[in-house]
Amino acid sequence: MQSIWKENIQLNTYPTLDKDESCQICIVGAGLNGIVLAYLLKDYDVILVDQDTFMNGSSSMNTGKLTAQHNDCYHKILKKYGYNVAKTYYEHNQKAIEQVIQWHKEYNFTLTQCDTYLYSKNEDSLQKEKEAYETLQIPHHFHHHKTYTTLSMEQQYQFHPIELANALLQNMPKVRCFEHTQILKYDTNITLYTPNHTITCKQVIFTTHSPSMFNEYFLFSRYKAYSSYILAKPYAYNKPFSALSIDQPSISLRTIDYNQDKYLLICNEDHRFGVHNTTPYKNLKHKTQSISQETLLQWQNHDYETFDLLPFIGEIKENIYVTFGYNLWGNSWSIASSLLLSQAIINHHQEQLYNYRPQRITDCLTLPFIQNNIDTLYLWLKYVILFHYHKPNGSIILFNKKKYGYYEDDKQKILVDIHCPHLGCILQYNKYKETWDCPCHASSFNYDGKRLSGPTTKSLAHITIKKE
Ligand SMILES: Cc1cc2nc3c(=O)[nH]c(=O)nc-3n(C[C@H](O)[C@H](O)[C@H](O)COP(=O)(O)OP(=O)(O)OC[C@H]3O[C@@H](n4cnc5c(N)ncnc54)[C@H](O)[C@@H]3O)c2cc1C
Repeated sequence: MQSIWKENIQLNTYPTLDKDESCQICIVGAGLNGIVLAYLLKDYDVILVDQDTFMNGSSSMNTGKLTAQHNDCYHKILKKYGYNVAKTYYEHNQKAIEQVIQWHKEYNFTLTQCDTYLYSKNEDSLQKEKEAYETLQIPHHFHHHKTYTTLSMEQQYQFHPIELANALLQNMPKVRCFEHTQILKYDTNITLYTPNHTITCKQVIFTTHSPSMFNEYFLFSRYKAYSSYILAKPYAYNKPFSALSIDQPSISLRTIDYNQDKYLLICNEDHRFGVHNTTPYKNLKHKTQSISQETLLQWQNHDYETFDLLPFIGEIKENIYVTFGYNLWGNSWSIASSLLLSQAIINHHQEQLYNYRPQRITDCLTLPFIQNNIDTLYLWLKYVILFHYHKPNGSIILFNKKKYGYYEDDKQKILVDIHCPHLGCILQYNKYKETWDCPCHASSFNYDGKRLSGPTTKSLAHITIKKE
């Protein structure tokens, strides 16, 4: 279940915070977003912390496309928010790409130029996006093929996210880095609390992928989390490309050179996080057997989508910033948001963040927002009312009149509290990852109840019964 990016690379390791610290700027979360931001602020007094090892979240599990072509988003943003918002969306992501090209001149990491394609069997679906490209003056090509139509953006890129992160980490010697250091809460002074220590700072930016700990502006209800599955299959291509079908179910493709062979990364079988697809890899292998019978690697990833297709980037309280909600395009957005946030912090230029401010409520005035929150309520009620007793791992059982999730291996039986500590939704067992996942707001816990990710800051209460 390891992604292709983690196969041939070893990142530096960093200590765990073992005493109280203070700094000017603290960055919480060392995925691509946190690392890029720390690099841009490297001349300041910065601490970068992660609850896990660095580059162990979504940034290390995606398909490594670096592009401003984000599904068919432009005609939707143009319609909802108008020319300026759609145009700056494009420009911010193009600037992010230019920044990576600049780094590539200085540092050694894999960056491949390629064209990216949207494709559809239905020409009309792509026509609207093409018209948006024309309005926004985005260079493109529109082609009719026998059975499908394509809309391409030229001079986009594919990269190796961990190699880029590694290059930046090696070139920010003043930044103090700490791994296995989870921030549990903060106060308005601004002191951040780990289980044993504190970090006091003047400004904090949470680059934690999900809006952990934040209930401001009802952020917890303003995104949905999706899981997706990726296969790496041998594929003898001539020219590198990235492609995405906008028909449902959507398929994402990109070529990659790996160990001197050529492969295709295929991403599909999306579903709401926590509501499990029982045979995702089998389905995906079946659908792609004409490409190759062989699969080199397979893995899963998840990401957060907002209801108006714009991320949340900005200050939620004085000197406390969040950035998340990249709608599956967090490579360019991680860099774009870091460029915007570093400017906001260094030069106090907040205007550029206006379109993405968490305070906007325009994303709530959408059918998907209402639908998603009705679904969340329905799932919550359904699991509360209709729980079953099954013996296999993942069953929900009654023990001492309380509901527990059941897990058993050779050595032990583990009963975990089945209620998510975040808002009490009933957790679902993911048999592939052996995790307990929350379908409401995407918290995830190990089979033994240890918190892995998501809005909650707590692990699950559990009872372990050792076998003789
Ligand atoms: C299947 C799939 C394919 C994708 N492919 C692409 C692609 O090709 N191109 C693209 O642009 N985007 C892609 N994405 C989206 C992209 O992966 C994400 O949007 C992006 O990686 C998010 O980066 P991040 O740094 O915010 O998050 P992460 O990489 O998840 O980093 C967040 C970090 O915060 C840490 N953290 C969380 N809470 C705490 C806490 N309380 N204390 C301390 N640390 C904490 C976590 O441990 C983690 O290391 C894809 C997404 C999916 C699901």
